[in-house]
Amino acid sequence: MTERLPAADVHADVLDALPDAVMLIDDQARLSWANPAAGALFGRSVEESIGLCGLDFLHPDDLQVALLSLESVQGKTVGTPLELRIRSTDGWRLVEMVGSMVGDEILLSMRDLTERRRWEVAGETARLRSLMQNAASITVLLSGDGIVGASSVGVTRQLGIDQEWLENRPFLDLIDELDHPVLESALRQVRDPGVSPTPVTVDLRLRTAHGDPVPFAITFTNLLDDPTVEGIVATGHDVSDRVRTEDELRAANSILAATLESTADGILVVDRDGRITSCNKRFAMMWRLPESASGSVDDEYVMSLVLEQLCDPAAFQAKVGELYADPEGASRDTVEFLDGRVFERDSLPQRIDGEIVGRVWSFRDMSDHRRLQDELAHQAFHDPLTGLANQALFRERVTVAAARLARRGGRLAVLFIDLDDFKTVNDSLGHSTGDALLVTVSERIAACIRPGDTAARLGGDEFAVLIDEVAGPEDASGVGERIITALREPVALSSTRVSAAASVGIAYGVATTGVDDILRNADLAMYTAKAAGKNCYRIFADEMHAAAVERLDLETHLRGAADREELVVHYQPILELGTGRVHAMEALVRWAHPTRGLLGPMSFIPFAEEGGLIEEIGNHVLVTACEEAVRWQRSVGADFAPAVSVNLSPRQLGDLALPDRVELLLHRSGLHPAQLILEITESALMKDPTAATESLERLSRLGVRLAVDDFGTGYSSLAYLQRFPIDLLKIDGSFVGDDLAEPGWSLAEAIVQISHALGMVAIAEGVETQAQADALAEFGCNLAQGFHFSRPLDRIAARELIEQSSTARSG
Ligand code: C2E
Ligand code: CA
Ligand code: CA
Repeated sequence: MTERLPAADVHADVLDALPDAVMLIDDQARLSWANPAAGALFGRSVEESIGLCGLDFLHPDDLQVALLSLESVQGKTVGTPLELRIRSTDGWRLVEMVGSMVGDEILLSMRDLTERRRWEVAGETARLRSLMQNAASITVLLSGDGIVGASSVGVTRQLGIDQEWLENRPFLDLIDELDHPVLESALRQVRDPGVSPTPVTVDLRLRTAHGDPVPFAITFTNLLDDPTVEGIVATGHDVSDRVRTEDELRAANSILAATLESTADGILVVDRDGRITSCNKRFAMMWRLPESASGSVDDEYVMSLVLEQLCDPAAFQAKVGELYADPEGASRDTVEFLDGRVFERDSLPQRIDGEIVGRVWSFRDMSDHRRLQDELAHQAFHDPLTGLANQALFRERVTVAAARLARRGGRLAVLFIDLDDFKTVNDSLGHSTGDALLVTVSERIAACIRPGDTAARLGGDEFAVLIDEVAGPEDASGVGERIITALREPVALSSTRVSAAASVGIAYGVATTGVDDILRNADLAMYTAKAAGKNCYRIFADEMHAAAVERLDLETHLRGAADREELVVHYQPILELGTGRVHAMEALVRWAHPTRGLLGPMSFIPFAEEGGLIEEIGNHVLVTACEEAVRWQRSVGADFAPAVSVNLSPRQLGDLALPDRVELLLHRSGLHPAQLILEITESALMKDPTAATESLERLSRLGVRLAVDDFGTGYSSLAYLQRFPIDLLKIDGSFVGDDLAEPGWSLAEAIVQISHALGMVAIAEGVETQAQADALAEFGCNLAQGFHFSRPLDRIAARELIEQSSTARSG
């Protein structure tokens, strides 16, 4: 083809007869000449095409390739064959084109490959088809407006749909209604190559012949311009498994999210650089983050809000810094807030496939827990009434202090404080008044000690003080004295004023003294203070041990003393003040101890009462006294014989069988009931007034006379006593002083007058002088008893006295 065009003229008929299209274009790609085959290819006459731009007939996608080859062909004689799509009046056709330079024009020769390629494609398609029949996929050929042209057998296999039924139907018919919009938008996208030239893939639910939706991932490829296809190819495969997994994942995620939101923990997730990734609502609530902050990822802002709430922001920040420096680190600790709240904080690295991507902080509000813990700890170691340390804590403190002595030397001191006669307050004024007194006492004790020392309530009316470090020997006794003085100050309680005297025992401890020994020594010293007349303190001395051992010995020996005939009863006369006649004899027990001699009741009655031996003793005295009184009757005659007055302990009074026992005793002994007086102390009466009333009433009905002993030492009033069938009132000896100007005297006088008004006979106790006897007689006291008249006498001496006074009378 080296000849110029005039030479071509010679071959014009050859060119006209060529089945290939041949044409000439200038450097602007404008057509200047073409043979008839070209006209057939483009579907328009050659004449009307001259002057048109050849590029306009090219498929836009092939334009770039064509331009490049146009350029390159200008440098060579014959260009490389190109496959291009060109537009003909009946659609796109595929041609093979070769270009060559003819002068300054380009000669293009094109061969229509459309039919040949179709065959090729058909062959390929046949191969593909057999493949597709076995594949778990479907292929559907769609027209540009979504009408099914052909479909693969997968449609039948996968969905049970007849391929022929599907033909010429909109693809939409195969799709679940819910997904119609998805399909429509996918088709729109794929049809418009300007928007997305690549294939479009979407998930669509296809419907089986039974109408069940099956999820498919469908890829739409626009081959509308491909002359061999001229359609949109939709290929897809069943993605049920994937969709199921996704659904499960979504469900799991939603459970996780719901759990996160519903948990009581506040959770914050940050990335490796400490930037907030997410947090739950509870976190925002717990940290009181404002609405504006909860959605915010402004870490510094959130951190500043956090820090300003904390007791120790520096420590918090340090911990946070430490954990960011160590991404692997896990930690748990507590965070304390200025407003008293306490959070437990956990921090763990967050990993994805083993790699650390951040950190999860969780916060749990432990405030209630902590409060409860503190409370329980406090309750376990404190006395609920007074708030002082309890016995357990006190022991613990002494143990710690003793251990310190071993390291440091020095001495500690323990004080045991026992209120004197607290039982009387409790029994006569009631428990709430008793409690109020204990609270005041605890406050006063606490005020007497130094800050480092410990005050405790060991139980009941027993208190204790630990002095950690004793400065000098007077140190502890100084505290003891201060406490006694402080407690003596009267306390105003509801209606009365009470003073709480106390007995204090002090024991020192050094490094070698055992804790148990210190406590026992203090107890012994306190016991000694009580025995020494109460309202004082005693410092432990070794002899106290001996005394304690003695007491223990007494206790063991007292049992069975009555049977061994070691208990003897003495009698003290009670005289009529006017006549001097012996009205009655008070029976007072003594213990003829085999080694210690005659012991007074005060040295064994109190612990006999505690140990439960009092009934044995009390009965013995009652029986002995009644039998003795019968002997007096026999000796001097019933008219001259005095009555016998027997002391009853609180425990005896509480015994419901007492009236029966007394009745039986009177019956057996033959003693006239009026000749028996039973003495009950004021405090015993008040202990259980209801039970006492019943017993006393029965005794009174028997004809026995009842006396209130030690009147004035308790807290009852005369008016109160009126509730009981009382015949006699024994005014305690403490009212009968030496000096007639003492206030006790005027009280004694008042008691005598009121007791008369209430129909009771008054007896003055502890009369030691004539002056006292005279004064009592003067204000009308009926009866009196005391050393002035006679000491308690043994059985023989008592009988002699009775006989003498009866002869004196009758003579
Ligand atoms: P109480 O019932 O008040 O008995 C009077 C006590 O005062 C007796 O002491 C008596 O010796 C003493 N006393 C009498 N006159 C005078 C006086 O002028 N001046 C002084 N300072 N004291 C005087 P005792 O015998 O040592 O008895 C003490 C307490 O022991 C009695 O006090 C009584 O409460 C109790 N007691 C004695 N015998 C028995 C008994 O058989 N059963 C019970 N439950 N208690 C008894
Ligand atoms: Ca008495
Ligand atoms: Ca008395």
